[in-house]
Amino acid sequence: MNNRELFLRHVAQTSPAPLAIEITRAEAATLEDASGRKYIDLIGGISVANVGHRHPKVLAAIREQLDAYLHVMVYGEFVSSPQVQYAQLLTQYLPSSLNSVYFTNSGAEAVEGAMKLAKRATGRSQIIAFKNSYHGSTQGALSIIGDEYWRQAYRPLLPGVRHMQYNDFEMLEAINTQTACVIAETVQGEAGVRKPSKEWMHALREKCTATGTLLILDEIQTGFGRTGSLWGFEQYDVVPDILLLGKALGGGMPLGAFIADRELMWKLTEAPVLGHITTFGGHPVSCAAGLASLKALLEENMIESVAAKSELFLQSLQHSSIKEVHSAGLWFAVRFNSFETNKRIIDRCIEKGVLTDWFLFAADSLRISPPLVITEEEIRKACEVMLEAMGDE
Ligand code: PLP
Repeated sequence: MNNRELFLRHVAQTSPAPLAIEITRAEAATLEDASGRKYIDLIGGISVANVGHRHPKVLAAIREQLDAYLHVMVYGEFVSSPQVQYAQLLTQYLPSSLNSVYFTNSGAEAVEGAMKLAKRATGRSQIIAFKNSYHGSTQGALSIIGDEYWRQAYRPLLPGVRHMQYNDFEMLEAINTQTACVIAETVQGEAGVRKPSKEWMHALREKCTATGTLLILDEIQTGFGRTGSLWGFEQYDVVPDILLLGKALGGGMPLGAFIADRELMWKLTEAPVLGHITTFGGHPVSCAAGLASLKALLEENMIESVAAKSELFLQSLQHSSIKEVHSAGLWFAVRFNSFETNKRIIDRCIEKGVLTDWFLFAADSLRISPPLVITEEEIRKACEVMLEAMGDE
């Protein structure tokens, strides 16, 4: 049996039709499979590989940490230099109120930690989330994702959760002194890259402040330059009470984080103590990789090229089968008339060496979220392939 057959037989799947491509090498924005076929990667591990696959500085940091120590103690007991250094660098590039970092294993665990913190700090239990939002697959995160199809089989879920319309001023009325937190993606990803208006973000921030409700912004996909600024919320002139990071945070290694003001965060140390516990959260190798990755992102000015590269995609993607394109920096949802059309186009792209897929809540839209280091030549080539794949759809 080859690896693909063994994968289908012994590696648990929840996708009824996994891509099942065996990648044997990855570099910058290129993936290579077991047959030697090369792909331009327009998925980037779903917004993980922002600095490119296997960035040399990330590899060097991982190697250095391997020679020092791996896991030595559960989270938060020992002083771990990669954690400390990374928390310091992150907070240096965040507003002063976001100064305390709790590292987790994943994005969903960061979501869980943030919801617990909001309940603990406010003494309230109601949570407001948004339709078509995605926050992860654990039961708490699942309770707040904004699509009933994905939730219904797993009830009972968290009580006290209400799903409101994103970017809607009327929903603000629902926020009151019973609300522990509002949790929103800064740009809704799996809805098909949907941006809020600046006015709505401001109004949301104001209503949260007025009612003592904590505003949690999920930047798990929007962080680390994806939307053209280091953090998505910079473009909306708002500061969340709790910020969620994941995906690109670990430079290709598993890592998540929820970040808040120290005074707020330290509520988790009392009544009860150990308000969030994790064995592997903030793993030293993940933190070393993430730290090197953020340094590379900043030192190599990767974010500066996002606007021009974004424009190149937008100019090149002109075809009669495209209904609309939603974009935020190097992140695009290219919408067609149906999932079937989208799927045919995606399959042809993959056959021709361009890796892409669709969005969870926008199956009619093709995903583009490449490593930010993708070259202009690669963008032109990928667009050529995509247009050819659209053919006479
Ligand atoms: N939040 C957002 C916006 C995401 O896109 C994701 C994952 O796709 C998550 C949370 C969950 O992250 P993880 O898959 O690391 O648990």
